[in-house]
Amino acid sequence: MTIAFIGLGSNMNSPRQQITTAIQSLGEIQSTQMISASSLYESKPVGPQDQGDYINAVVKLETDLVAIALLDSLQAIENDHGRERKQHWGPRTLDLDILLFGDQVIHNDRLTIPHAEICNRPFVLVPLAEINPDCVIPEKGLVTDLVSKVDQAGLTVMS
Ligand code: ATP
Ligand code: CA
Ligand code: CA
Repeated sequence: MTIAFIGLGSNMNSPRQQITTAIQSLGEIQSTQMISASSLYESKPVGPQDQGDYINAVVKLETDLVAIALLDSLQAIENDHGRERKQHWGPRTLDLDILLFGDQVIHNDRLTIPHAEICNRPFVLVPLAEINPDCVIPEKGLVTDLVSKVDQAGLTVMS
């Protein structure tokens, strides 16, 4: 059994609804249970600015799957949401990233865990700290310390 944290993002086709239904789908992955989900957050896009704002969230899962099998399940959910891979960091209906997978450090052609950008992204760090403030990111440190170092302008929690 492994605790995994998944980052969700959407900025196309009713992003708020994309995120809400994706959270439900994450709870239905085989051999996996939903533990908790953060609030929804609104954020400005990374990369190209000529696209809509994002809705983001983080969920905590408990899974018997190995990391690559969890990635397969996440990509199947992205595809169900009509994800198309066009422009790098371009608009998307749904993005599901594995942020953390237990205390594992993974570097292969399909996975980098902890997620490579975790420390630089307020829309990941803030919801992660909300649901797990004592979370330690392997090789990076305590999530609350990382949150205090990141610029949170442009990130708002949704009611
Ligand atoms: P970023 O990784 O900077 O957030 P992105 O989410 O837009 O960018 P994608 O196009 O969604 O990138 O994914 C490209 C590839 O990243 C995927 O096919 C997957 O194999 C790989 N990848 C590497 N590490 C991870 C991870 N921790 N979680 C999800 N995908 C990952
Ligand atoms: Ca991403
Ligand atoms: Ca991704």
